[in-house]
Amino acid sequence: MIVSHSQLDKFRVCHWVYYVKYVLGLEPDREDDTARRLGTFAHDVYQAVGSGAAPDVHAAALALIDASPWIGEEHEFVSILAVLEARQQLGLIRPEIKDIEKQFMLRLAPEIMVTGYTDGTLPTGDLIEFKTTGQDLGQYFRFALKSLQLPIYALATGRLTITLDVTRRPALRPKSECKTRKAGEPMAEFGDRVKAVVMAEPDKYFQSRRVQLLACDIERARAEVIQTANEIWRCNEAGVWPRSASWATCPRCAYEGLCEVNYSGGEFAPPGYKLEEREGRHGISKNQ
Ligand code: SF4
Repeated sequence: MIVSHSQLDKFRVCHWVYYVKYVLGLEPDREDDTARRLGTFAHDVYQAVGSGAAPDVHAAALALIDASPWIGEEHEFVSILAVLEARQQLGLIRPEIKDIEKQFMLRLAPEIMVTGYTDGTLPTGDLIEFKTTGQDLGQYFRFALKSLQLPIYALATGRLTITLDVTRRPALRPKSECKTRKAGEPMAEFGDRVKAVVMAEPDKYFQSRRVQLLACDIERARAEVIQTANEIWRCNEAGVWPRSASWATCPRCAYEGLCEVNYSGGEFAPPGYKLEEREGRHGISKNQ
């Protein structure tokens, strides 16, 4: 079977989510997937500037929306652009990155292959991964370091030092119409306000940590990946995918609506979800 680190991590959080998302291929049907949209956009801008494809974040952002028009709300774009410009003004944009989006296929056992893409390599030889979050950065790092992503990348590339470069999105929206203000906040003013907030407390919005993995971390991750992949296989064979039912995960779960529903697949998605066209959607093959 072929798995990615996000599939393994999702399975570890809740087996039922893995089943619904990766076996049945259901995604929440919502246009407001702002977090993912903004994260991908920031990630692509960093890569464009780092690879030399664009001279600065502004040019990179314009080229990206030229190639694929922004489908979110205008204020989202204004806000993320202000964050990226603030970062550039603070001198925190990495100017040299190589091996952008390099794919790997890592065989960990005769029937288990792990696949993924590394974001890039710094001139020091470290791998670099760009992340965007709405969370407090201390909390973000606490959980990110428990993910299997970094040790898997280290195993696949032989590089034990990985820089995790995280940008936090500020939770700001344009001021709306009120008694003293006839119209809502103009977008240019909103962008300036976002930039000022971010630049006033850069540590709150931009942090990067150089994670040094040890041989014991790698060996533990190897064992965990094999064990997790085997558990996925056993759930698939038995047709039983236990729910996690945890106060820590359920309140924020995008699949909560399917938790109590007896949906077992088909050509039509239940209300509120859509079917993703994805290879392997209707099952897992151990011989892939
Ligand atoms: S609501 Fe909880 S138990 Fe249900 S799918 Fe989500 S994480 Fe799993």
